[in-house]
Order: sequence, then structure tokens, then C-alpha cells
Amino acid sequence: MIFNKSEIIENLQGKNDPWLFAEADRVRRSVFGDEIFLRGIIEYTNYCKQDCHYCGLRRSNRTIRRYRLTPAEIFSAVEMVVDQKISTIVLQGGEDPHYSADWIADLIKAIVDKFDLAITLSLGQQNPEVLRLWREAGANRYLLRIETWNRENYCQLRPGRQWENRLNCLKALRELDYEVGSGIIVGLPGETPDSLAEAIIGLTELDLDMIGIGPFIAHPQTPLKDEPNGSITLTLRTLALMRIMNPFANMPSTSAMECAEKGARIAALKIGMNVIMPSITPERVKKLYNIYPGKNAASDDSEHSIAAVMEIIKEAGYRRSYSQGISPNLVRRRQGKTIKQQ
Ligand code: SAH
Ligand code: SF4
Repeated sequence: MIFNKSEIIENLQGKNDPWLFAEADRVRRSVFGDEIFLRGIIEYTNYCKQDCHYCGLRRSNRTIRRYRLTPAEIFSAVEMVVDQKISTIVLQGGEDPHYSADWIADLIKAIVDKFDLAITLSLGQQNPEVLRLWREAGANRYLLRIETWNRENYCQLRPGRQWENRLNCLKALRELDYEVGSGIIVGLPGETPDSLAEAIIGLTELDLDMIGIGPFIAHPQTPLKDEPNGSITLTLRTLALMRIMNPFANMPSTSAMECAEKGARIAALKIGMNVIMPSITPERVKKLYNIYPGKNAASDDSEHSIAAVMEIIKEAGYRRSYSQGISPNLVRRRQGKTIKQQ
């Protein structure tokens, strides 16, 4: 089902939440049943050359202790993922100039040579040659949120960066046959019902394989420290609308939900989300990956992160899947079929 802009705005304003949330769950069950895919996320560096106004890892934040994982630490985190029978890893980090593109490519090759894992990258905006190198090395998926659909807002919040370039990067990823993920932060300063509705339409038109959306959480060491957090209710409505309009996309219930409000990660699973991504970052540095306050704060070691996620899945009334959870969208693209919206 596709909504027009005014229908989206009405639903964002709470026209009929019981219907909206039940319909999102119905659509999710029609494609994914009651299964939830797990992705083990390894946050391998908190250095970043970018200065995004919303993010605690921004380069101007001189108060945080920075870290980089050693290759041995990354490998032991990967082994931990494999031991737990999780079949996808996500490598995420700031845009850290310390690592060359070749170094990352060698890391990807070393992982795929040894393990049967789907590899998702979330390493920020990169040029197409670098993305090609990593794809050829064995990476399958890439997450790059566009963050907001408001171009002016984007330039203010990401100094020196152009919204169109981010969009072009997403298009390059698609051409390189990655499973492509994107999304926004709900409740960034400057967001309006109109711009949020445009984001919902624009993201849907991108025909994404993965859609990651979470609420804005103000970080005390950023220029947005005094801004209000994004609303959980508005985020849930956004997620439900996105699910209904994108039945075949993998959609995580993000950790930002839980940081904003206890229990919100379960609520998101119940309204159509089908993915959850426990942090497998080693305990030594886990809490330093402080994109927003509370990130990775709840659990210390990876076993606890996974156990907590299993508990959430159970409580929400779904079932853990052991599969790599390839995007149904990608399968259809490869078969040359168009996806019929429900
Ligand atoms: N450096 C990479 C990946 C790490 S940041 C990148 O920027 O793409 C991962 C995501 O964290 C960002 O895409 C952004 O959407 C989210 N994020 C950053 N700061 C946030 C905040 N204060 N509240 C909510 N989400 C935030
Ligand atoms: Fe860096 Fe990503 Fe944070 Fe921006 S959002 S400062 S690119 S880690």
C-alpha cells in the first residue's frame, strides 16, 4: 500500500494508531512471518573526521576518549558472533582516516575467507572506487542513512556536506549490487510534518533493502545538546508507515529507541520491525561508542547484549531466525522481477 503525502501527514498526527500499527504488523508477517534476524554489530573505531552536529563522535568533541580495535579484537568479536550462530556482522565506525581503503578490504577478505557470514558495512560516505573495492573484497551490504530529507537542514547539521552527494552515494551502492540501507533520524531540529512525510515518500522511492530509522537523542557534548529528543510515538508512526509502504525491506528496531524510552525496542518489533542488532563491540571500549547518551550502556559484554536481545524478541512474541536474512528485494531484483506492492 502506498500513501499520498496528506494521508502520511494525517497518520503521523495520529489519525488511527490502532489500525496503523496492526496493519504494519500484518504486512511484516505476510513477508517475514514471526522471524527476527540478528546482526552482530562491531563498532571498530570511534574516531571521526566529520563534525555532524547531532553526533557524540564528531571531531570537535574533545571530551571523549577515542579508541580503535586491533585486528585481533575485531577477529575475536567475529568469532563470538559465529559461536552465537549469528550469520551477519555489521562493521560500523566513524569516518576514520587512520584506516586505508586497502586495509579495510584486506580485513573483509580475511573475514570472508574464514567465515560464512554476510558482511554489512556502515563506514560513512565513500567514493565509488572505494565502495567497489570493498564489494569485490566480499562485503554484501551497506548502511548509509540520509539522515533528513530537508536539504538545507542537512547542510547545517553536516558542515561542508551536500545532501545530493549522500544520495549519489546510495545510488552508487545500488549500482555496485550492494544490499542498500538508508534511513533518517526522527525529530532532528528543523524537521516538520511536511519534511518527514517527504522523507517517507523519498526513502520508499529508493526501493531500499534495509531501512534504519530511530529517534534523535540529544548528546550533551554537541551543539544540539539543548534540543528535545525525538518523540517515540512519532518514530513508531514513521516506522509503521515505512513498513506498510516497504513490505520487503529489512527494518531494524534500533538501540536509539530503547535509549529514548524503556520498552520502545519491543514496541518497534510489534509494529513491523524484523531485525535487531546486538553490539558485539568488546567490553573494553563498548561504552565509548557514545553516538548518543545511553548507547551501549545497558549491557557490558557481548553475551549479555545477545541475551538481552533474545529476551526482547521473546517478550515481543517473535522468534529468532538463524538465517543471513538476505533482502527479499534483492532476490527479486536479481530475478529481474519487479516488486508488487501489497
Ligand atoms: N559514521 C557512519 C556510521 C556511524 S553513525 C555514518 O555516519 O554513517 C550511525 C548513525 O547514528 C548515523 O547515521 C545517525 O543516523 C545516528 N546518530 C548519530 N547521532 C545520533 C543522535 N544524536 N541521535 C540519534 N541517532 C544518531
Ligand atoms: Fe561521524 Fe557518523 Fe557521527 Fe557523523 S554521524 S560524526 S559521520 S560517526
